[in-house]
Amino acid sequence: MARKPKLAVWKFSSCDGCQLSLLDCEDELLAVAGAVDIAYFLEATSKTVGGPYDVSLVEGSITTPHDAERILEVRRQSKALVTIGACATAGGIQALRNFADVNEFTSIVYASPEYISTLATSTAIADHVPVDFELRGCPIDKHQLLEVVTAFLHGRRPNVPGYSVCMECKRRGTTCVTVAHGTPCLGPVTQAGCGAICPAYARGCYGCFGPAESPNTVSLSRQLRVLGMSDPALLRVFRTFNANAPAFKEASTVND
Ligand code: SF4
Ligand code: SF4
Repeated sequence: MARKPKLAVWKFSSCDGCQLSLLDCEDELLAVAGAVDIAYFLEATSKTVGGPYDVSLVEGSITTPHDAERILEVRRQSKALVTIGACATAGGIQALRNFADVNEFTSIVYASPEYISTLATSTAIADHVPVDFELRGCPIDKHQLLEVVTAFLHGRRPNVPGYSVCMECKRRGTTCVTVAHGTPCLGPVTQAGCGAICPAYARGCYGCFGPAESPNTVSLSRQLRVLGMSDPALLRVFRTFNANAPAFKEASTVND
């Protein structure tokens, strides 16, 4: 019998939400489990199988010296390495430390900060090792995750669009909250994938899927100012889950 491809799921600095998206696939997960050998997935199984692995899904960012070493070993053990979520693809919300003094943060958050071993920055996995595909979202969309896993198992590129949330608004017939109500929205510069959930509930997008392909943050920032946003508000709107994604970082730094 042909050997099943080996799948590994790794956690770095993160909230586990993207791994939960995989578990949330429920029915589809049974099909995935039938097609692959889930060899390493500590959140779901107690048994682990050693590498090498055909596909590794990596959640989380690099925030400690130990993790900076560990990701090198994960890369060595993985034929294909896919990063999932805002932490793994852009450093996550913990990348806010990149704009501040991390020692100040640890001294406020922890009772005994002397026991904390951390780097001054939180960075994406691709800043440390070559990555075969980056799947955005906070958390990721489970249908996109299944598409990515299926694509890598079949040796093809994933069919994940690089266009913006605005496209999804149009597709589902949602009235634009900016045009209709003057509500600030990051949809024009944000990667599609969520199905434009927030505008469907009459809220502006706050960019949790990170930058779309070729985002025009300069024009959007100009429009957000017209809608009444101050420079500090503009800085904050780009510094959330994907603060260290280059396009959002640049947009926020202009307003620093
Ligand atoms: S509501 Fe936001 S995402 Fe939707 S079309 Fe308008 S600007 Fe784009
Ligand atoms: S913040 Fe934007 S990208 Fe995130 S779920 Fe809402 S509409 Fe989608």
